[in-house]
Amino acid sequence: MKIPEILSPAGNMEKLLFAYSYGADAVYAAGRNFGLRESAGNFSDGELIKAVSIAHNIGKKIYITANIFPYNSDIAPMEEYFSFLNSIKPDGIIISDLGAMSLAVEKAPDVPVHISVQANNLNYAAVRQWQKMGASRIILARELPFEDIRTIREKCPDMELEIFVHGAICVSYSGRCLISQYMTGRDANHGECSQGCRWKYRLEEEKRPGEFFTVEEDKRGAYFFNSKDLCAFFDLHKFIEIGIDSFKIEGRMKSPHYAAVTAGVYKKAVTQYMANPSDYKPDNSLYEELLKVSHREFTDSFYFPDKGITQNFVSSGNTARSKYAGYLKTPGKQLREDRYSAVVDVKNTMRIGDVLRVLTPSWKKFSVQVTGIKSLDNVEHVYTKQYGEFILEISSKEKLEELTILRVDA
Ligand code: SF4
Repeated sequence: MKIPEILSPAGNMEKLLFAYSYGADAVYAAGRNFGLRESAGNFSDGELIKAVSIAHNIGKKIYITANIFPYNSDIAPMEEYFSFLNSIKPDGIIISDLGAMSLAVEKAPDVPVHISVQANNLNYAAVRQWQKMGASRIILARELPFEDIRTIREKCPDMELEIFVHGAICVSYSGRCLISQYMTGRDANHGECSQGCRWKYRLEEEKRPGEFFTVEEDKRGAYFFNSKDLCAFFDLHKFIEIGIDSFKIEGRMKSPHYAAVTAGVYKKAVTQYMANPSDYKPDNSLYEELLKVSHREFTDSFYFPDKGITQNFVSSGNTARSKYAGYLKTPGKQLREDRYSAVVDVKNTMRIGDVLRVLTPSWKKFSVQVTGIKSLDNVEHVYTKQYGEFILEISSKEKLEELTILRVDA
């Protein structure tokens, strides 16, 4: 049985480092253009060169997204971009458009082509056709039932298949959606989605301007477009058993905390399964970790339709059970027996005396206490007035690794 890779989102260099350190085998990232997540930060050409080098030095993979639906005006810059990618040799280019496919084959012949979820591949004939055209991997539509995925696997045995296992999903077919463009002029198919599907709507009659009627499913309102988030954690083993090659996690715009925890949880789940397939049971303590990072209510009902509905009609809010406080940019320098000093990238206000929960890249969990706060120019503080880098003195019984996450559990 093959071991599927864990493929994590890397919206920027920081998230790439977290994903690799906590368990991802591969990441997907975008350059400044063509990558469908214009707000994610993304990578300059120089950063892409560095990211490919980091990945290959530690034996990991990196795939570059170029999965917009391009207009005529995108073609010449895309040709130039693909030639550049061919020179730096990432492990794949992810495209969704036929024209982009032809450019990738011509301008980046040394880089495998992956067909994006945006191409909505729902059947084995489509998979075979992409294969004939030179694709090496298909990212299947998130809307496919498990039995259809199994059939595609059986009928296309020598094609790499990737599925999404975690993260936000669209109310319409994986991003082929005009809600955002219609409401805000921001084109979801060019990476600028405003997530209008999560908003709360009211009704206005044409001749009564300013008089709003509530559209209510219950007293909290109506969220008729609002999809739950995908979480296939409890059914992961079924996808391993049918031979899926890659498990993808959505979320390039989410935090380093999210990138780290999701990579760690899914990697550990796959490792636990491979160690003992016949007795495997999903580990609830890992699932608990998924509940601590940003998410909406979970579903995997597209894969298993009998499990219920995929929409949340009550709320589109984040229900994470922990608050991300920051992370160690440097390893903890031991000051005395249980006292460490480290540069911390603070993401939420911290005060002297705060007790925080820790998660390390080696998956240790314990509590620490903040015993001192200094700015980088050595001025002492009682609390962190703004987010950013501070030198924290931390009381801890355990060593503190670089990229250790600090958080407050609910
Ligand atoms: S508005 Fe919602 S459904 Fe449409 S592309 Fe954006 S996230 Fe997907």
